[in-house]
Amino acid sequence: MSDQDDLESRVRAQCMEDDAGHLWWQGRTDRRGRATFDDDGGSVNVRRLLWCTAGGKVPEDHTLQGRCHTGRCVAPAHTRLFHRPPPAPRVRAPREVRHPASLLVASGECMVLPRTGTVYWQGRLVKIARAVWEAANGPVEKGWSVCHRCDTAACGLLEHLYLQQPHQRVRETADRFRLPLGEDHGQAKLTWDAVEFIRASTASRSELAEAFGVSSSTIRKVRFRETWRHRPSPSPPAG
Ligand SMILES: [Zn+2]
Ligand SMILES: [Zn+2]
Repeated sequence: MSDQDDLESRVRAQCMEDDAGHLWWQGRTDRRGRATFDDDGGSVNVRRLLWCTAGGKVPEDHTLQGRCHTGRCVAPAHTRLFHRPPPAPRVRAPREVRHPASLLVASGECMVLPRTGTVYWQGRLVKIARAVWEAANGPVEKGWSVCHRCDTAACGLLEHLYLQQPHQRVRETADRFRLPLGEDHGQAKLTWDAVEFIRASTASRSELAEAFGVSSSTIRKVRFRETWRHRPSPSPPAG
């Protein structure tokens, strides 16, 4: 006699069969009312055990259900498969921000959002500047970005913000880094600040070339570090 047969006979010993073919469970039930047999190895689901020893299978996503309305009849012939997909994983929705400006704290001239600088705003993770801007002015059109007059990325003070298209932004930054006309460092048209901007920028090569007034191969060489390789360490302040 196999262990399984032995287990089945011990389970059946706690059942009472009647003339109508019901197999009434006399043992205990678990908290959810399921016929449960306490075996040495742990609790056994009686309905499932009898269903399986009678040759039934329980596909994934299915459970077994008694057809006799009391639920105490565990006869395999009175049991049916019941499709029950697993519950969808609960995704915790990020906390939406209603009033982004209320999160800001003063920092010098600016009002900044400490730590991340980003908030959940209308279903997206966005920079604080965009959330503040959109809260005040409505959605930003595609292709436009919210920029800072104050150069402080975490700043969300509305007066420091303005809208810009990407190519405009590259050009403005280029203007800031370009050497003034007439000032001549040999052939170089770029500065180290410009070089660092170019290396960090995601703008296209031609966009950068136009903005900085250099050829696009100059931009390529800068990006691949064929030129402008070693930044000299800053000289100690005079005095
Ligand atoms: Zn029954
Ligand atoms: Zn600012």
